[in-house]
Amino acid sequence: MNSFNQHKLGAAVSKQVDNSNKIIGITSTIPVEILFAGGFVPVDLNNIFITSPQAGTWVDEAEEKGFPRTLCSWIKGIYSALQYRPEIKTVIAVTQGDCSNTQALTEILDHQGIKIIHFNYPYDRNPDLLKKNLEALMDSFRVSWPMVTRTQKRIKSIREKLTLLDRETWEGNKVHGWENHLFLVNSSDFKGDPDCFEEELDGFLSDLGRRPKIRETVRLGFIGIPPIQSGLYEYIEDLGGRVVFNEVQRQFSLPHYNHPLLQQYLAYTYPYDIFGRIKDIQQAVAQRRLDGLIHYTQTFCFRQVQDFLIRKHLALPVLTLEGDKPRPIDNRTKFRIEAFIDVLRK
Ligand code: SF4
Repeated sequence: MNSFNQHKLGAAVSKQVDNSNKIIGITSTIPVEILFAGGFVPVDLNNIFITSPQAGTWVDEAEEKGFPRTLCSWIKGIYSALQYRPEIKTVIAVTQGDCSNTQALTEILDHQGIKIIHFNYPYDRNPDLLKKNLEALMDSFRVSWPMVTRTQKRIKSIREKLTLLDRETWEGNKVHGWENHLFLVNSSDFKGDPDCFEEELDGFLSDLGRRPKIRETVRLGFIGIPPIQSGLYEYIEDLGGRVVFNEVQRQFSLPHYNHPLLQQYLAYTYPYDIFGRIKDIQQAVAQRRLDGLIHYTQTFCFRQVQDFLIRKHLALPVLTLEGDKPRPIDNRTKFRIEAFIDVLRK
């Protein structure tokens, strides 16, 4: 950890969050059990950005304000999302285990008067350090281990249902790739309301019995950053393929929910090294009988470098795609997907 983080951790985490404003922005998946235990409402800023009809304009607006073109659009989208949601006065930023660009973003937000709480996943999965970081976050939200453990039990029933939805995707063959993506990606904050989220999930699951099985000819895994472009899953299914594994989105749902909280977040692969992710992907390849993988990368994201190791360690065809701004998939991407599915089918 660099000196900046040490300074901010010491300064920001020791300050407790103002109880009068319950809405808390998050820049990445964090232990939401802590926030719910204190009666707070987490709002995933990525989801506000990407679901906004103005998402493309928001990126342009951030650039007009001085954000470099050569910076990932998600950072610019998060920044703009906060300009349109002034009720969000506190943000939990994951600056270790997600993205170093977030660190620079927090400096700008701090300057604007937004309260920043840093949460770090120790790169080496050090359990003592993660426990310390969890407890610092609990301190900020004035909650105790018993309160968080009770909330974890409540949230566990939703995580179980998400695992069922995932199973109905790859084994039951009843769920479309985009449906799997949407439910899992939204589990980072449960749309701010676990009860409503669970109700929506229950409705979806109960309708599955009436659906016919989907019969795809090519089974794909989608690994890497959730797509910034739209229409990808639909296009794949138009071509007779289907995504039956969304790697990072599934990790957002914390599939190791049977463990105590600390172990649950140690088993979460996304914030740690690539090798844990590769092991998880290898298991999915075998279990879900995947024919190929789409490795989705974001323009100007450091994670693009990991493509090298992914290709080296995974013994099946990989198509690497790159998305820049929020917009429908372009013709070149369509052409590449079509050629990839053709090759896999043959
Ligand atoms: S896509 Fe990459 S660069 Fe962009 S916010 Fe995520 S981790 Fe950071």
